[in-house]
Amino acid sequence: MENTQKDHIFTEIYIGIHSVMVLMVLVYYVYSQTLHWMMTLMLVFYGIYVGFELYMFATKQIFKLENMLGGYLQSMIDILFISICCIYLNDYYYMALPILCLFIIIASLANHQTKGIIHGIISTLGYLSVGILNGYFSLGIVLFQGALLIGFSFFVGELNQLISDVYKRNHYAMEEIEYKNQLLEYRATTDFLTDLSNHQAFYQSLEVIAEKHAPITLILFDIDDFKAVNDIYGHLSGDYVIREVSQVIKQQLRTSDIGARYGGEEFAVLLPGTEEPFGQRIAERICKSVAEYPFEFDHQKMKITLSAGVCHSTVALNQREQTMLVDQADELLYCSKRNGKNRVTSAQFK
Ligand code: GH3
Ligand code: MG
Ligand code: MG
Repeated sequence: MENTQKDHIFTEIYIGIHSVMVLMVLVYYVYSQTLHWMMTLMLVFYGIYVGFELYMFATKQIFKLENMLGGYLQSMIDILFISICCIYLNDYYYMALPILCLFIIIASLANHQTKGIIHGIISTLGYLSVGILNGYFSLGIVLFQGALLIGFSFFVGELNQLISDVYKRNHYAMEEIEYKNQLLEYRATTDFLTDLSNHQAFYQSLEVIAEKHAPITLILFDIDDFKAVNDIYGHLSGDYVIREVSQVIKQQLRTSDIGARYGGEEFAVLLPGTEEPFGQRIAERICKSVAEYPFEFDHQKMKITLSAGVCHSTVALNQREQTMLVDQADELLYCSKRNGKNRVTSAQFK
């Protein structure tokens, strides 16, 4: 609901005015010590209603207060209250007019256009009825005030619509900016082919995590003989393999782990809070899953394997040590390559 912010502000004012009304009548009662039983009854009734409104406002999410505030019940209760006040105003009846105008403005701004206008018209009819019944107004005055007040209700309704539009436009603009910012951040940090973190985002995560968290394990994976995949099956098959391998890696990670596409067919996995044997086990599990995965593109079945280097640190690392961690994992990865590929080599960070 785009208009919530505006509705909220005016609903608060609206409830505030109701509360002040109740207080004013109470003060009047204490001061003058005279209150008709009907007025007392109305005051109690109205007091309960204002309390209920406040409660509903506080628990808006559950009870959807806006719908209720805009309802005809609200209008009827306001009119009843204004009318009863009017009855006792006698010589001060003219005071009912500014109160009524204030009600029309606030009720309109707290609601949608139509409901606000209906509220204004019904309130006006209540005010005029009491005036006629008590003989305060002649027909001419009734018609004149009626026309003015109903016109005023429509004017406030238009004003309300104008304010709503400004709020809505502002809201949409803010939403669009937020969406574009998110999109920009996503594009800047995510690899387009695999949806994993990109090289830059990997280093950002490494910096944040390795500086504070220990133990930490870094795994570097490289697809074995990938050039041959491209050469034999084509570049599209190569892309497919990279995508599938990244999915296999992703499936094996916890939400706190970071999976990244480190380079062309190289992947990095950062496991914060992971003890040494677990890091190696996760690397072996990923290699095994990839080796057993039924790669097939364009009716061509492919056998794909990974080599991995696992480097483990028991202590948190500063920026220079983080680079060394990556270098050591890379060296371990090339140990796996030299020793025949499709294997994991791991060691402690030195
Ligand atoms: P090794 O087992 O020693 O790792 O052999 P390899 O063939 O995998 O070695 P190398 O790292 O030299 O080859 C990587 C190839 O990956 C070269 C490059 O053309 C290809 N490559 C890099 N990025 C992409 C990509 O996004 N898509 C495709 N299809 N190929 C890519
Ligand atoms: Mg490579
Ligand atoms: Mg390779």
